[in-house]
Amino acid sequence: MPEKQKINLLWFGNNLRIRDNESLFNVMQQQLPFLAVYIFDKSFFNSTQLSFKKIGKFRAKFLLQTVSDLENNLKEKKIPFLKKLGKTEDIFKQISKGFEVEKIFCQREWTKDEIELENQIKTIFPDVRWVKSYSQLLLEPDFVKERLDKIPLLFTTFRQKIEKDFKIRNEFDSEHLVYNKSTFDLKIKSDDITLKTLGFEDFETHSSSAFPFTGGETEALKRLNSYFFETQNISQYKETRNGLIDAEYSSKFSSWLGNGSLSAVSIYHEIKKYEAEFGANDSTYWLIFELFWRDFFKYTSMQFRNKIFQRNGISNQEHKWQNNENLTQYWIDGATNSDFINANMLEIKNTGWMSNRGRQNVASYFCKILKQDWRIGAAYFEEMLLDYDVHSNYGNWMYLAGVGNDPRSRTFNAENQAEQYDADKKFRNLWLE
Ligand code: FAD
Repeated sequence: MPEKQKINLLWFGNNLRIRDNESLFNVMQQQLPFLAVYIFDKSFFNSTQLSFKKIGKFRAKFLLQTVSDLENNLKEKKIPFLKKLGKTEDIFKQISKGFEVEKIFCQREWTKDEIELENQIKTIFPDVRWVKSYSQLLLEPDFVKERLDKIPLLFTTFRQKIEKDFKIRNEFDSEHLVYNKSTFDLKIKSDDITLKTLGFEDFETHSSSAFPFTGGETEALKRLNSYFFETQNISQYKETRNGLIDAEYSSKFSSWLGNGSLSAVSIYHEIKKYEAEFGANDSTYWLIFELFWRDFFKYTSMQFRNKIFQRNGISNQEHKWQNNENLTQYWIDGATNSDFINANMLEIKNTGWMSNRGRQNVASYFCKILKQDWRIGAAYFEEMLLDYDVHSNYGNWMYLAGVGNDPRSRTFNAENQAEQYDADKKFRNLWLE
């Protein structure tokens, strides 16, 4: 039998970018023979949890656009890329028939679905060396460890400990490296993957969507440049961030951050560049403050692991949650007693997007007024959100349900909130009419 060719794999997950990609940087810098792989794992599109899909049509389309952009960018760098639809385990089995895999480079994950995928691969390649990167984080784990023995329950404690003289690493210069290793004969072919093959009908973006963008690193960097340097809207971020209508009230970076087509470290350095040119103010600081929130939920889940998915959450608070399918359906359909809640729920149903103000209100309403199990609401968001991120979604839901990082367990008064943030009813009219 001919000897199998030795290669390395760059297994893409939620790091779908060329710029500031540590794994890509490592394989390119060492000029290793490697194959880049992305798998649309069928189980994420077929199976359900609490009767919701893990990925719904909005994020599926956004992901297809993202991977297509990545494919083009890798092609320009002459990097072989394999895009497959199937079970992760089966695709790796196919690869193992043609190649002896030495190392797998990927982003480090610690939540259950992602660990499950890794375990599938470990059964195929038990002896492979894993080289994992923490590239989804803004703050480096060593730095956080130095400042904190363990992650505190309160965000303010976390922020105060890390904010003094903090350092953010430089970007990895993966974008500019040139790869000149000769390629190899790849017998497996990429799949032609469309919304239809993923199980969805094609659809157009709703004309009133506050997120009228497409997926992919190219679009992410365009948005970053536009929000910062072209419009300078970042300089008003703190005043506009509670907005509800149109794209400009907040950065809209979350969807690209979610699948890693944009890195938080790149955003940070662009903010610093912006501040050097146009001046720092409360708003430019506040965007960094919000990115700390993002990291806070990531470090929280790293510490508490699967507790973030459990009924009593990370703070072990017992509540009498109910599971009334009718009430959940009224909430989803925008048919509750509150027009502000209804407008927000119709927004997410029609666009896959909802503002932060809206999310806080509808989550609070679901848990505190309807008294439904917060995990049902979180699972619905997981299916619907364009920007779904396991740490931010479950972290924020636990927070609002009173089983997470906020021991005070407050309830939002939707009517007061509507009066404060939508006094002229423009937002409600947009979705209710
Ligand atoms: P901006 O206001 O421009 O903020 C910049 C970035 O800071 C965001 O892109 C995000 O990465 C981070 N950020 C801001 N607010 C938060 C926050 N509260 N928690 C964590 N990070 C934050 N965000 C997600 O990215 N994915 C989710 O699945 C998600 N689920 C949520 C569920 C609930 C119930 C709630 C209340 C919030 C959730 N958020 C989630 C947080 C927040 O609503 C979104 O990050 C934000 O609205 C995205 O819009 P933006 O990018 O314009 O944010």
